[in-house]
Amino acid sequence: MSKVLVMDADLANKIAAGEVVEKVVSVVKELVENSIDAGSTEIKIELIDSGVKEICVTDNGIGMDEEDAVLCFSRHATSKLKTLDDLFNIESLGFRGEALPSIASVSNTILQTYNGKTGTEVIVNGGKLESIKKNLDLPQGTKIKVKNLFYNTPVRLKYLKNLYIELANVVEYVDKMALSYPGIRFNLINNGKSILFTDGSNNLLKVISRVYGVDVARKMFTIHGTNGDYTINGYASYPEKARSNRNSITTFVNNRLIKNNELNKIITDAYHTYIPASKYPIVVLNIEVDPILIDINIHPTKMDIKFSKMDTLKELLSNIIIKELEGKNLVPNIESRTHVDKIELAVKENEKIEEIKEETNNNYSSLEELTLNFEVEEEQDDYLENALENLKTPNEIEEEKKERIKKMYPVGLVHGTYVIAENEDGMYLIDQHAAAERINYEKYLKKLGTHDNHMQDLLIPLKIELSTQEYIILKEKIDKLIELNFEIEDFGINTILVRSHPYWLPEYCLEEAIRKIIDIVISEREFDPYKFTEKVAITLACKMSIKANDHQELPALEDLLERLRNTENPFTCPHGRPTIIAYSKYELEKLFMRSMEK
Ligand code: ZN
Ligand code: ZN
Repeated sequence: MSKVLVMDADLANKIAAGEVVEKVVSVVKELVENSIDAGSTEIKIELIDSGVKEICVTDNGIGMDEEDAVLCFSRHATSKLKTLDDLFNIESLGFRGEALPSIASVSNTILQTYNGKTGTEVIVNGGKLESIKKNLDLPQGTKIKVKNLFYNTPVRLKYLKNLYIELANVVEYVDKMALSYPGIRFNLINNGKSILFTDGSNNLLKVISRVYGVDVARKMFTIHGTNGDYTINGYASYPEKARSNRNSITTFVNNRLIKNNELNKIITDAYHTYIPASKYPIVVLNIEVDPILIDINIHPTKMDIKFSKMDTLKELLSNIIIKELEGKNLVPNIESRTHVDKIELAVKENEKIEEIKEETNNNYSSLEELTLNFEVEEEQDDYLENALENLKTPNEIEEEKKERIKKMYPVGLVHGTYVIAENEDGMYLIDQHAAAERINYEKYLKKLGTHDNHMQDLLIPLKIELSTQEYIILKEKIDKLIELNFEIEDFGINTILVRSHPYWLPEYCLEEAIRKIIDIVISEREFDPYKFTEKVAITLACKMSIKANDHQELPALEDLLERLRNTENPFTCPHGRPTIIAYSKYELEKLFMRSMEK
């Protein structure tokens, strides 16, 4: 197999390119995964104009001999799939050996490789073998440069998204690979700006700090647990670091990146009411499991997995997260240090490099590596070390749980909405509606859970008119209301009569509360008793809680703060909004630069 086959296959490759290669990230994915397969410990991805102009991936892997260097451009050349056991690896990384010929058919591709014995360069333009150079002196590993993607297929070129989206896709992919291979040094660069750099030291928390920032890495807790079937390891963020993108949940099975909606749901459910429903925690989780217990769905772009014994996995995972959240002081602290975005940092670092480069006119890549290696790393290591030191012993965690929030003394009310409070540790702002909502939510949840059949009769029965559709649905589900201790009579012509109600409904807005509960009964399509109580509790809590602009005197505020402190989760309202924000004494001193006068 050589030239001839490559040229014959040209058309097929171009057709296949449309399927396999559609975005810059598909090219990056193929090249990076080849590098991983080659046993590399360093992978550098350099892009020009988000990769549309040029993608260059350099690794220090085993390299190829002359024959393989040519062969890898012919279709179905792959010999990597050896046994059925390999299937798991193969599938997680994509369709091996399919994409490279396709990529080469729609670009100008230069491959340079050295396998410890011989160095080879192969140039392929638009699928046509241009030149082969042998016996070159090259560094160990493989470097593949893909230039002018889709230059000969203008229709495809049109389908590339804008530069920002193409780059965002690549960053997301390389982030995930870095998280799944903390032992590999990844360096992602666009137009000379370093975007991600990991040190390959096999420290997952360090990679997390590179991907999500040091602030996030400091707000992660460890996940570690095992039962007969599963062993799980990783990190999850405290609620304050929640993201609005569900991609912040990264899961691996036996170290391979996977996607599983059920698993994501278990994780987000464990954070229920700790974060808003539209937000997601940052989680990096590896699940070790006997392959017998999983079923892999083969798909070229993603890997979906089905778990048998999902219930035991769920129990293991949610217990760890829930326990951790219950035992912690989760009040977000205002920090005077401004948050520096990863990309911003990259830009700044790059400016620094540019300066030095101008001064010394020195070799670009080595300087860049120096700067990134030493300066950024030292700073981040300090943070991480502190973060690791601050991990609590089980005893300390128990202590902390008892006194998660110290008693807070109200000082006043701002904008009729936020209580200002203080104690010896610092200053607090508390959203009075969110606080009351949390207190009422837990109260109603308890009342709904106890099946005490205490009823309160109405002096004048309440008449509720419904639409025909509502009336029909409600009649079908009337037993749900009876279970809740409502006494209800059919009054005919789409009307019902409420004669008595559960005793704990608030007297002052009784009609509204009853109406709300009936609305929920009607709107629940598939009746899930847990979801139903949950909804009723949240709705009642929101309705019955003091609103903004309700002015309260200090003793009432003090009572509110005390009751909040004694709830199960004083940190968020049932919608997941924060209730308390803290300004530590230290931060206040820093903000006012008080140390200057000391
Ligand atoms: Zn509310
Ligand atoms: Zn709320």
